[in-house]
Amino acid sequence: MKRCPVCRANLKDGESCRRCGADLTRLIQIETAARSHYQAAVEAFSRGDFGAMYTHAREAAAKRDSPATRRLLACATLLSGDPSRAFSLWRRLNS
Ligand SMILES: [Zn+2]
Repeated sequence: MKRCPVCRANLKDGESCRRCGADLTRLIQIETAARSHYQAAVEAFSRGDFGAMYTHAREAAAKRDSPATRRLLACATLLSGDPSRAFSLWRRLNS
């Protein structure tokens, strides 16, 4: 998170915004969990465990909606055997 979601101030380190004082602790926890699930999905892909890849990719995308997490989820969905859902996710990504 580079900017405060409340006032858009640039953020440095810390668990609150220096401008508006917003408590960012929970958002930082969610972002950390999203990164952890994203990395776990990549590692599961490396092992060929596409079921675990899908589970972690879904959690990463639920916690942080970004092109990277949507792309990962689309790939995991395809590899775990649901091509129509993967196509739907891919279309949403590229619309
Ligand atoms: Zn702020």
